[in-house]
Amino acid sequence: MSLHFKISKYLLPYRILQFKYKWEALQYSDPDTVCRYQLEKVRAVLEHCRRHVPYYRDLFRQNDIYPGDIQTPEDLRMIPELSKEILRREQQRLVSEKGWHFLREQLLTSGTTGEKISIWVDPVARAQEFVRYWLFFQRGGYRIGKPFAEFSSDFFMDREDPLQVLFQKNPLTGQLLLNTSYISRENAGRYLELMRANGVLFIKSRPSSLYIFSRHVQDMGAEDIGLKCIFTIGEPLLEKQRKCIETTFGCRILNFYGHMERVVAMSECIHGGMHVDEGYGLVELQDVNGELSGEGGTKFRLLGTTMHNRLMPFIRYDTGDLVEVDDSSGPCPCGRRSRRIKCISGRAEDLIIGEDGAVYPALFLVFNMIDGIQMGQIIQDELLSFRVNIYPDADRFTDLRKEELLFHLRKYLGSGALIDIRLVDVEGFDYGRSGKFRSVISSVAGR
Ligand SMILES: [Zn+2]
Repeated sequence: MSLHFKISKYLLPYRILQFKYKWEALQYSDPDTVCRYQLEKVRAVLEHCRRHVPYYRDLFRQNDIYPGDIQTPEDLRMIPELSKEILRREQQRLVSEKGWHFLREQLLTSGTTGEKISIWVDPVARAQEFVRYWLFFQRGGYRIGKPFAEFSSDFFMDREDPLQVLFQKNPLTGQLLLNTSYISRENAGRYLELMRANGVLFIKSRPSSLYIFSRHVQDMGAEDIGLKCIFTIGEPLLEKQRKCIETTFGCRILNFYGHMERVVAMSECIHGGMHVDEGYGLVELQDVNGELSGEGGTKFRLLGTTMHNRLMPFIRYDTGDLVEVDDSSGPCPCGRRSRRIKCISGRAEDLIIGEDGAVYPALFLVFNMIDGIQMGQIIQDELLSFRVNIYPDADRFTDLRKEELLFHLRKYLGSGALIDIRLVDVEGFDYGRSGKFRSVISSVAGR
């Protein structure tokens, strides 16, 4: 999703401005004001669900739920959660019988077993998406019309011959799209030159693509191109990636968290606070302490309820992600009062299960401990069987480093674990059906 070249799709300028000013204010509002806004919106969606969405009509009837009874966020818990499995099964009955069918847009996401699931959004939900990006980019100093580059693969995949197109420039907005499939040592200089020629001030990208690009730029010893801010989305941003990218380009990264399902958005402020975007969706944090034996603080499951998309409304949708709440004392120095999240531990399927049943939510961090690794990926095929893909940093990943990596992995996975370490290039990683890079993939955790 881009703020720019799909601008023609955003048909509700009044709604866009209304959202923008309201959500901007909500960031600084007291919790009661936020709660009132959210409950009012959610009750209206629930009433719509009761009348026009077959799945919810039946669910509410079976459970004696009346939208008017939802007076507090806790009352929402009367409504059973919407799991990915229910979404897969009930995707057709989750679509409203009424609404903006003639202006709807279909988004595709991967289901629990990898098959595609259709998510339908109406024009209000498009306005919602536009505004969240607008507010987020604004935090980094962006204003509509400023020169912008975006690393994308999805955009080029739609082209007839995706591998022939290195970049595309939008003549209307001046936005520069760079094909992620072409990030290589040879092309890095060309991309950099394109950015310089177009006066690019901002970049939007997935962290893994930009990290690789940064490494090439560093190797070239290129000069500063004068970026103002970098926006990363779509994957967890590792500390190592952040450091490398920020050093290479001499500017700050602001990280963003969101989903195709459009019920939860969180975005970083310039003081490093990961704020819940309270106007975007109603975010619920469910305590799972005790279920996980990982290190760190209390983990919460992340659930979201739509306040805007009536065409296919998701109520109490379980994103499958786990988060830790930032409970550092005092308000964020940016002045925003919205909730802050300290760490997103990743999805349940991204957890590695140890031999003794222990759960490791962040095992990919071992890659940060070893020199000579540009990117790494752990795939757990069976409880004791692991494939580890390593994209080495030239010849710095020596046998000694490999031993070191094995030593650290065995500390967690047990001495009986079969660990197969392979050296790959960027294309050699397992991208699964979603096409997204994930540093941990477990076929065991989701079972
Ligand atoms: Zn902040």
